[in-house]
Parts: sequence; C-alpha cells; structure tokens
Amino acid sequence: KLSKRLQAVADLVKPNSRLLDVGSDHAYLPTYLVQQEKIDFAIAGEVVKGPYQIARNHVAEQNLQENIEVRLADGLAAFEENDAITSVVIAGMGGILISEILEAGKDKLSQVEQLILQPNNHEESLRSWLMDHDFVITFEKILLEAGKIYEIIVAEHGTTELNETELEFGPYLSQEKSEVFRQKWNKELNTLNKILERLPENHEKRTKVQAEKEKIEGVL
Ligand code: SAM
Repeated sequence: KLSKRLQAVADLVKPNSRLLDVGSDHAYLPTYLVQQEKIDFAIAGEVVKGPYQIARNHVAEQNLQENIEVRLADGLAAFEENDAITSVVIAGMGGILISEILEAGKDKLSQVEQLILQPNNHEESLRSWLMDHDFVITFEKILLEAGKIYEIIVAEHGTTELNETELEFGPYLSQEKSEVFRQKWNKELNTLNKILERLPENHEKRTKVQAEKEKIEGVL
C-alpha cells in the first residue's frame, strides 16, 4: 500500500502513459501503477546506487522486469527519445532540486505530455520555472499526512502568466482554499508573528515580514 502522498501522485498519472519516475527510491510508485494495470511501462530512475539496487530487487521480486526498467541515472538522463516517455513524476524532493532536474533536461521534455511534481518546499520557485519554460499548471493538490503538508503540481505544455500570489500560493490551491491550505498558511503566519515578536521595534526586517504577513492574510 502506498503512502497517502504517493497514492495522490499515482492517482494523477494519466492511464496508459509511459512513465519516468525520477528518484524512484524503492520503485514503489511504478510497481503500484503497473500492478493496478494503470500503465504497462515505466522507467524508475535513481542517481544513488543504494536505492537503485533496492529498486532493482523490488522490481525483480514482483516479477515486473518486463514492465519496469530501473536505471542508474541523474534526473532526465534516465530516458531517451525512443523510450517515448509521456509522463514524468518527480516526487519527494525540494522544489529547487526539482527545478534543477527539469532545467538540466529541458531539451528532452518536448515529447512529454504531463509532469507530476511533488515538491517538499520552495513550490514558488518550481511554479516560476514552469511558467518561464512554457508549462501551464493544470491541477494542484494539497494534503496532510502524518503531520506534514505536501503539495502536488501537475503541468502540461502551454503558456500562462501567473501573478505573484499565484506563484507563491498556487493558482488552484489559492482559489480552492481547502482546510489543509488554510492550516499551512496559518502556520506560516504564526511563524512570522513569532519573528516579529523577537525583532526590535525599528529593525529593518520588520517591513518585509509585515508585508509577507499581509500577503498571506490577503489570500486566507
Ligand atoms: N520519489 C520517491 C517518493 O516520493 O517517495 C522517493 C523520494 S526520496 C526522498 C528522493 C530520491 O530521489 C532519493 O532516492 C534520491 O536518491 C533520489 N534523487 C535525488 N536527486 C536525484 C536525481 N538528480 N536524479 C535521480 N534521482 C535523484
């Protein structure tokens, strides 16, 4: 059984897509998707030898070597044009690392139809990267698991202009304003309030913190 977070990622993968899972770790995601018969081909990419071996063993134990190729590779170097990959998942990493992985392999993304990204932080940098490279966000999800809040961003080729608020809070998430979304940003408000309490009256940082607070209050 997948974690709630990985299950939510799995649910967003288009049926019958040819999937690359970057940083697949145990290859749980591709294994699940093939066993559910949602897809029949995936590459599980891993840059670190330990998880790469674990992924290989896991795929072999489940007898899925025909469907899942485990490859030791950095980011999008795990696939070539003739793999005909149509969906790319990059989950469970920082938003900046995800942007860097996309940037390093951006020339290979033209045939990819769908990106499913689950940054653990710096969602704003990732949304900026997507906008600047002609990807449009088509869906977002926010969820709570074991006390942690996760965001998932789905993108396809296309152009849009996102404003500052949409980049930071998410074009869909900031419209939906779910319970978990409010929880995330109320927590951030609390942090900023604590920072303000500690900063001396005339400290130069106060205006910046105050402005960020007002931005959040404006969205909530
Ligand atoms: N994707 C899984 C998930 O969401 O549960 C595993 C997340 S795990 C925290 C991150 C994995 O990404 C690690 O196994 C790490 O070795 C791998 N990784 C980090 N940078 C990578 C890169 N540039 N290319 C491929 N794998 C990478």
